[in-house]
Amino acid sequence: MVQSRWNDAEAAEYCRRYAACGGGLALRVYTSRLIGRDPDLVLHGGGNTSVKATARDLLGRELAVLHVKGSGSDLGAVEPAGLPAVRLAPLRELRALRELSDQAMVDAVRGALLDSRAPNPSVETLLHAFLPHAFVDHTHADAILALTDQPTADQHLRAVYGDEVAVLPWIMPGFPLAQAVAAAYEAHPQCRGIVLKKHGLFTFGATARESYERTIELVDRAERYLQR
Ligand code: ZN
Repeated sequence: MVQSRWNDAEAAEYCRRYAACGGGLALRVYTSRLIGRDPDLVLHGGGNTSVKATARDLLGRELAVLHVKGSGSDLGAVEPAGLPAVRLAPLRELRALRELSDQAMVDAVRGALLDSRAPNPSVETLLHAFLPHAFVDHTHADAILALTDQPTADQHLRAVYGDEVAVLPWIMPGFPLAQAVAAAYEAHPQCRGIVLKKHGLFTFGATARESYERTIELVDRAERYLQR
């Protein structure tokens, strides 16, 4: 069974260790590792997380950025460099498009990197960019898959969550999924998370702890239902 492994002393230690990165990214590293080390939430290399923050350009101007998991790193051992920064504004503008090929999306995301040597940001980068919350956590939790990998998924989801989560059918990760998740959130702004059938869960929050503990809470409810 999943449980919150948040610990105030550990969180403070991450803030000290990664003080140069800013508190948001330091705590993003902390809760990303908590998620990545729990095999009930993600398998090795799976899942992705992000935090919105600010950075300075070469002229010293402040700009909004998204730190999002890059390819090739495992959440359980992620370092700040494994969460490369992309400029938020040009990525959010892509919301206006109706279609975007995978190649054009990769080009746009790589073009928004602050560091040209950074790893490729997650294929789910636009999804993280389109959601307004500071912290976004994405897992492939076993209990969510167990509920949704069956024809009666909607009935089970309603029994577990009522209308507290938004639910989407399976959609190929990339631009269509990013658009669908943003629209689902906007249609249901009070939701505690978004369940993607046969794929996983998105939660979000104003703080690292809030987003992480929403993941734990929603997965815990699914586990308890499955036990019954
Ligand atoms: Zn995923």
